[in-house]
Amino acid sequence: MNLDGVALRLNPIRRGPFAATQIHAKTSAAYPRERRTMDIYGRLGVRRRINAAGTLTRLGGSLMPPEVLDAMRAAAGASVDMAELQAAASAAIARATGAEAGIVTTGAAAALTLGTAACLAGFNVHRMERLPDTSGMPGQIVICRGHRTGYDHAIRAAGAKLVEIGFADRVTGAGVRGVEDWEIEAAIGPETAAIAYTATKLNEPPLERVAKLAQRYGLPVIVDAAAQLPPAANLRRFIDAGASLVAFSGGKAIRGPQSTGILCGRRDLIASALLQMLDMDVAPETWSPPPLIPREKLNGIPHHGVGRGFKAGKEEIVGLIVALERFVGIDWEAEARALEGRLQRMAQRLGGAGFATRLVPAAETGRQPWLEVTIDVARTGLDALGVSGALQAGEPPIHLSERRAAEGVLVIDPAALSAGDDATLVERMVALARS
Ligand SMILES: *Cc1c(COP(=O)(O)O)cnc(C)c1O
Repeated sequence: MNLDGVALRLNPIRRGPFAATQIHAKTSAAYPRERRTMDIYGRLGVRRRINAAGTLTRLGGSLMPPEVLDAMRAAAGASVDMAELQAAASAAIARATGAEAGIVTTGAAAALTLGTAACLAGFNVHRMERLPDTSGMPGQIVICRGHRTGYDHAIRAAGAKLVEIGFADRVTGAGVRGVEDWEIEAAIGPETAAIAYTATKLNEPPLERVAKLAQRYGLPVIVDAAAQLPPAANLRRFIDAGASLVAFSGGKAIRGPQSTGILCGRRDLIASALLQMLDMDVAPETWSPPPLIPREKLNGIPHHGVGRGFKAGKEEIVGLIVALERFVGIDWEAEARALEGRLQRMAQRLGGAGFATRLVPAAETGRQPWLEVTIDVARTGLDALGVSGALQAGEPPIHLSERRAAEGVLVIDPAALSAGDDATLVERMVALARS
């Protein structure tokens, strides 16, 4: 939270050409240091919550490390060329992911919309102008039925029509087969613009196979890998498997600003996506984009594109770059051990109060460790969602993950849980079991 910025907005006096700078200097000097660490949520009357539910967007995503916040504060005080800044982000993202290029978006969902827009329009300026109207251009995206999620609205938002194929028999338990190549090939035609793929641990059908097939038809593959981190090795995994574009969330495990994401992949597609997001109110005579944008390949200069509403701010772009560099440098085994130690202590206290718990280590989740707590209705008088609701109704509100609630299990997910909140969380659960 940039409290200097808050102070400035509370004093919007603009008189005379130099007033703003004078006010800035004055405000900074007159702005006491202790107020910069004030309880901003308390002042706004918004309750702080204990979050053991994971990096959920509705709870504000991850907790930003101080070095990310410091970088954002530093970024806020100067003007830069946003295309040049995105080109610098591209270099950083390429280093971290092994992709040819990348941009900072306003989330993985925005990355999916921009990536789709790039597949639909390429460098055709007239097509960029028409989106989300796809008439007169290939506008279909092939997607396996088992890959459909609530987030694929982001793909349709660019104007694409989803063409669903195959069966999710391995998911429903109705059969042994996944989606086969012939099923994908039968859906590909002159209207096809790309193949969309949702990355999961199951990797079904294998991304390597889908990418190879797509390549034979000259089609890009867009991968939604929003929450496939950690491990940091997954930053490279989908590009290595042949994906043309990959979307990651910046506000989940990477711990960048909540409103950020990454779109990385083929350089030409990234350039097209960037063009459809940037402020394009430019004079042709003076427009000088960075080399990431190959002006000579454009048949004109586009106006504001379909992604103009997803603008990433300079502070967010810088914050994401710093968070990504930090994320890549983390010792994941040490991190997992520390989290498992915390969960172990919580499990002991909960076990003593009669809760059945199971610590699922990072080695088993493939991501961060978590603690499963089985809710015994006979003891607590409440089912899993009842306990979850009671914890949320207390003060401060406590959130556990409800992703396994249907099986009577609440999950303590430590991804966005401050260590200082562990004891409060556990004692509230113990008190609930006693009452
Ligand atoms: C979280 C998530 C998204 C959206 O990511 P944002 O960064 O919040 O836009 C998309 N797809 C999947 C699978 C996700 O888990």
